[in-house]
Amino acid sequence: MTLLGKTAVVTGGSRGIGRAIVLKLAEMGANIVVNYTSSPQKAEEVVALVKEMGREAIAIQANVSDSDAIQKMMQEVEEKFSTIDILINNAGITKDTLLMKMKDEDWDQVMDINLKGTFNCTKAVTRKMMKQRSGKIVNLASVVGVMGNAGQANYAASKAGIIGFTKSVAKELATRGINVNAVAPGFIQTEMTDILSDEVKEAMMANIPMKQLGTPEDVANVIAFLCSDDAKYITGQVLHVDGGMVM
Ligand code: NAP
Repeated sequence: MTLLGKTAVVTGGSRGIGRAIVLKLAEMGANIVVNYTSSPQKAEEVVALVKEMGREAIAIQANVSDSDAIQKMMQEVEEKFSTIDILINNAGITKDTLLMKMKDEDWDQVMDINLKGTFNCTKAVTRKMMKQRSGKIVNLASVVGVMGNAGQANYAASKAGIIGFTKSVAKELATRGINVNAVAPGFIQTEMTDILSDEVKEAMMANIPMKQLGTPEDVANVIAFLCSDDAKYITGQVLHVDGGMVM
């Protein structure tokens, strides 16, 4: 599997799963755009690691929920790299609370970043990929978007929305040489899950048949496969990387 000379945009590439995706795609030969919002230092650290591997990389600050900022970011990518071959819609947040306590802004912020962000970034690369007649788009869903989870109605709705979005766009772009898939991670060790209480972590673990947490690399490896030519006949799918939580 090689991605030599391809350009990949990874939203939320500064930390956690996004960081692991950046490093894996770079290892396979891709040049990388590390998108982030609040942690420039971490984004620049990832850029430096990619450059050490002999690839080109830049960090671009842009909030995925801001369509103007995302269009500007993609223009900058085109100017620098000429092509946009791979888009990984990874940026995501949680604002967990029970429905009865959920504020409008908890709902709106999660939907704006997770779901609208995926729409904004996908729309911004589609024309370019259609002209190229090639492209790979992978969206980060979650097991929670399939199973639901108490305290995560906003997050689950955003991730279920990403699954419907993925399948619809996959159908629209299938004849244009563009593969659109989703990956649904289970419980992966990152800052997003570090903040959960021990009680919640124990309850999650009870639902994992493999009885262990996943690593960001477990998710990145599957995404790298979906971005490779080995996966050229796969589109509109949701691949679960979850130790067997959903089966
Ligand atoms: P994380 O460690 O919290 O990292 C989130 C990343 O998203 C950071 O790079 C952050 O950038 C970026 N980000 C947040 N809001 C953004 C915005 N508005 N615009 C651009 N970038 C933004 O999260 P993670 O655990 O790696 O999760 C990555 C993805 O996997 C998310 O979509 C998440 O829902 C999904 N997922 C995670 C798990 C899990 O167990 N961890 C399970 C299922 C699905 P800054 O550094 O600049 O803040």
